Amino acid sequence: MLTGEDVEDLRVHLSRLPDAPEVHETVVLACGYHEDERPTWMYVEADARAGVARRRCLQCARSVGLLDSDERWTHPPMWSCGGCHQSIGEVAAGLSVADGEHVTWVVLGVRCTECGRIDGLTDMVLPGTPLTEVLERL
Ligand SMILES: [Zn+2]
Ligand SMILES: [Zn+2]
Repeated sequence: MLTGEDVEDLRVHLSRLPDAPEVHETVVLACGYHEDERPTWMYVEADARAGVARRRCLQCARSVGLLDSDERWTHPPMWSCGGCHQSIGEVAAGLSVADGEHVTWVVLGVRCTECGRIDGLTDMVLPGTPLTEVLERL
């Protein structure tokens, strides 16, 4: 079982995936609706086959669909840890960036806040979307 001590370990994991496009940037997803903090504990729903994901902040319960996920939503079940079965995780994205500013691939992973287990969630191929736009929509 793959585990991480903290969300940094998840970022490292995402940047070293075998048999995957090279990941140049990693981002810890956080809720943007708070003034002084960016909470990272969340529930997440993801469909690996459809390449969609949605996260919900543990503190304020606001949901955000990643990139165009809301338009293609497939109603996947909420992620729960394969080790300890609870559903609160920290989520990070790995980005494959062409020429330093256009994202061609996004991969999402989650780390269980209880036992530290790291799971893959989904990935999405993008047509070279500007990095700044992707960062706003994760
Ligand atoms: Zn929130
Ligand atoms: Zn767990």
